[in-house]
Amino acid sequence: MALLETKNLTARYGDFQALFGVDIALDQGETIAIIGANGAGKTTLMRSIAGILANLPDAVLFDGAEIGALPAPDIVARGIAMVPEGRKLFPSLSVEENLLIGRYGRAVEGYWRLDTVYDLFPILKERRHNPGTALSGGQQQMVAIGRALMSNPRVLLCDEISLGLAPVVIRDIYAAFPRIRQAGASIVVVEQDIGQALKVADRVYCMMEGRITLSGTPAVLTREKIHGAYFGVA
Ligand code: ATP
Repeated sequence: MALLETKNLTARYGDFQALFGVDIALDQGETIAIIGANGAGKTTLMRSIAGILANLPDAVLFDGAEIGALPAPDIVARGIAMVPEGRKLFPSLSVEENLLIGRYGRAVEGYWRLDTVYDLFPILKERRHNPGTALSGGQQQMVAIGRALMSNPRVLLCDEISLGLAPVVIRDIYAAFPRIRQAGASIVVVEQDIGQALKVADRVYCMMEGRITLSGTPAVLTREKIHGAYFGVA
């Protein structure tokens, strides 16, 4: 049985339907990537799982329980944490205060505490008294990831964490992933960078216009196949 699963998930913004029967599954210990062009529905999928968007009953299962109808705080409390697109730090709070916010929803003991997050991203310790928004984009992204880790999540949802960052910074951030996995989180990354997705993920799902158009392991997904599923052209 998968740890996290969506079944025939649909989502709407008013009259606009953004997701059409999306089925994905994440196994314990696995990292999956969701790729697709702008507007494909990747963020909507993450927000539906995180309880930010309403969806149909029985559409999201986590650890054998239906969670699709639960509000966001209950989802966090069960162990699903999101690193949102655009980082969404609290501008008036310091790095350390931003990290501590991550404890509020789910103060369970586990591997991730301030000291282990600082060990993962040492620059954050140096900057811990600075306002979160005074940091570079990459450092802000580290804060957003650290904040999510502070809840010791069983599932970490990462929405476009490489967006707008330099390649060397993206490499540094993804270098943290093996340790995040080792500490027990199963991971969903949303990526527009196909190469990065293929590198980090055990399996990849490609979305287009609110539907999954392709899925498989990086080994079986050729560039041609991905291109067709991504843009609708072969
Ligand atoms: P991006 O890479 O741009 O974030 P995405 O794959 O994450 O793209 P979504 O943000 O999930 O795509 O958007 C899916 C569709 O839903 C798009 O057509 C988008 O215009 C629409 N959409 C997203 N948010 C809203 C909203 N708040 N109200 C209305 N429509 C929305």
